[in-house]
Amino acid sequence: MKIYLNGKLVDKNQALVSVFDHGLLYGDGVFEGIRSYDCLVFKLKEHIDRLYASAQAIVLAMPMNKEAMMKAVIQTLKVNKLRDAYIRVVVTRGEGDLGLDPRKCKQPTVFIITDKIVLYPQELYEKGLAIVTVATRRNIPEALSPQIKSLNYLNNILAKIEAINSNTEEALMMSADGYVAECTGDNIFIVKDGTVATPPKAVGVLGGITRDAALVLSKKMGLETKEVLMTRYDVVNADEVFLTGTAAEIIPVVKIDGRSIGKGKPGKFTQNLIKEFRKITRIEGERYDL
Ligand code: PMP
Repeated sequence: MKIYLNGKLVDKNQALVSVFDHGLLYGDGVFEGIRSYDCLVFKLKEHIDRLYASAQAIVLAMPMNKEAMMKAVIQTLKVNKLRDAYIRVVVTRGEGDLGLDPRKCKQPTVFIITDKIVLYPQELYEKGLAIVTVATRRNIPEALSPQIKSLNYLNNILAKIEAINSNTEEALMMSADGYVAECTGDNIFIVKDGTVATPPKAVGVLGGITRDAALVLSKKMGLETKEVLMTRYDVVNADEVFLTGTAAEIIPVVKIDGRSIGKGKPGKFTQNLIKEFRKITRIEGERYDL
């Protein structure tokens, strides 16, 4: 396996970064998770735009432009001969000293890992997921905006640990004010009386790229869509609930806190949306040849 590291393609065991890298010492950096389907990189431009927006938000000057970054992603996929892949693009503040001062970090570290995609078991898409609401609140935007896809995922990891301790796959995190925010690596949607709703970004959630795609597809499928504040009451009273994310794609939720949602089975709309989403991933995207 070859890894893109600071402009070079190197063997996995030679893809090494310094222990003084602030990405490691402080989580000072940004990243993206992207997928390719049958030699099509899904929403590559949107992911690279979000990467650069995250970098801008943490005052990290990117060492290359967006076009070069997109080329580097494609180059890494090609050299690894991957038709279907999970792509991780990481940009750290770079090597500095033991202090926080980012001015000591002269050169950002850029690496791209392309690997085989590890899918959730198909059974979860057919039977649906059980999730729990957790005590760990989502970071408040005034402290660290969840819109920044930063290398510090401890907020989400602590929530994930709570989900695991409750024998469920995913945690639903609330905002500090108690509104529904998002799961540890996915956005949440509810379907109620023919309307598809998801919390607004301003509540403190990542503006998911799959979330955007799900909103567009839902509208095309004839449903009304809205971004609206919601509480746990709205989730337990929903007809259908689903999560969206690059790794999970669109996955139905059938239980929350041990209580069944709707009929306790993946809903019709969610099932159709999964089909439509899978269709677009095979049509849209940045094509590359192997
Ligand atoms: N929320 C969080 C916290 C995430 O980390 C992610 C990405 N894994 C998402 C939502 C979904 O975003 P996307 O659809 O862009 O993958």
